[in-house]
Amino acid sequence: MHETDLLTIGAFAKASRLSPKALRLYDDLELLRPARVDPDTGYRYYALGQLRRARLVAWLRRLGMPLALIREVCDLASRDPGAAAAEIRAHWARVEAETAVRRDLAAFLVDHLSTPAREDTVMLELRYAAHSDRGLVRPANQDAAYAGRRLLAVADGYGPGGGSASDAAVRALAALDTPEAPSGSVLDLLEDAVREANRAVRETAGPRETGPEGTGTTLTAMLWTGSALALAHIGDSRAYVLRDGALFRITHDHTVVQSLLDEGRLIEEEAESHPQRFLLLKSLSSGPEPLPDLRLHEARPGDRYLLCSDGLSTTVPDDRIRHLLTASPGPAEAARALTEAANRAGGPDNVSCVVADVVEATA
Ligand code: MN
Repeated sequence: MHETDLLTIGAFAKASRLSPKALRLYDDLELLRPARVDPDTGYRYYALGQLRRARLVAWLRRLGMPLALIREVCDLASRDPGAAAAEIRAHWARVEAETAVRRDLAAFLVDHLSTPAREDTVMLELRYAAHSDRGLVRPANQDAAYAGRRLLAVADGYGPGGGSASDAAVRALAALDTPEAPSGSVLDLLEDAVREANRAVRETAGPRETGPEGTGTTLTAMLWTGSALALAHIGDSRAYVLRDGALFRITHDHTVVQSLLDEGRLIEEEAESHPQRFLLLKSLSSGPEPLPDLRLHEARPGDRYLLCSDGLSTTVPDDRIRHLLTASPGPAEAARALTEAANRAGGPDNVSCVVADVVEATA
C-alpha cells in the first residue's frame, strides 16, 4: 500500500470522530491496529477501510463490552455481520441476567436496613419435612435430602459414586444445623460450608473419577437466620417459594441449556428436547473450585419453601407443583404428594423434595 492511500492519525481521528488518544489506546489494546507504523518516526497511519471498525470499537466500548469480546465481534462483523449481531445480543442478555441477580440483592439489603429486625416483634421459625425416593427406573437413589431447624438441603449425585457424593455434600452442610442462630455473615458461613462440601465430595469420589463425566453432585441449600434464608446453589436442583398463592423459582439452573436460553440462542420449546439438557455447567466435583450462587432471601410468615432435585422439576410442571404445594396441609404431606406426582409421571429419575413453612414461633 502506498503511503498516500493512508491517513495520518490526525486525519483518521477527524474522519472517525475519535480522538487520537482513543486511537492510540485501541492500538495498545490490540482492538484497532494502524495499517502502518513508520519505523523511524513511530507515526501511525490508517486506511480509510478501517473507519467502520473504529466506529464499531467505540460503540462497543460504550456498551461496556469486555475487550476480548470486542475483538471477537469486530472480527466477526467483517465476515458475518449476522453472527456479530448475535454475539452482541448474547452479551446484553448476560448483562441483564447478572443485573437481575444484583437487583434482588440490592432490594434485599435496602429492605433489611430500612425495617426493624423482626426478632423484636414476631419470632419466626420453620416447620419442615424431607422426602427422597428412588423413582421407578433408576437402580439406586443417588439423591440426598435434609431438613432441620436451620438447614434445608437437596443434592443430586451423578456418576459411579454419585450416592456417596450427594450424601457427603449434604452432611457437610448439615454441620450448620446448630441450635443457636449462626453469628457473623451467614453467606460467608454458607460459602465456607460449600467449600467443605466440595472437599468431602472429592475425597469420597477419589481424584480420578470426578469431573463433569465422572462423579459429582448438585447442591441447593438454605440456612435459616430467624428472619431470612441464605441460599447456596450449584447445579440444577431448584428452590421455589410459594407466597400469596404464587410460585416463584429462586434458583437459576447451572446447565448448558439454561445458559443458551439466557443468551437468547435457544427458545423454551427447543430446550425441552435439547440433547444436552442434562449437562451441568457447574457442580461439586474435582473440577475447579466451585462458585456457588449465594444470596439472602427475606422470609415472610406464610411462605412455603420447596427444594427439589430435577427428578421433580423435569417431570412435574410448575403449575402442578404449585397446586400440590397449595393443597397440602403441612410440609410432610406436600413433600410426599410431590414425590408421588413424579412417580406417577413415570418416575424416570430419583426425586427429592424438602418443604419448609415459615410460621410464627409457638415459644
Ligand atoms: Mn436427578
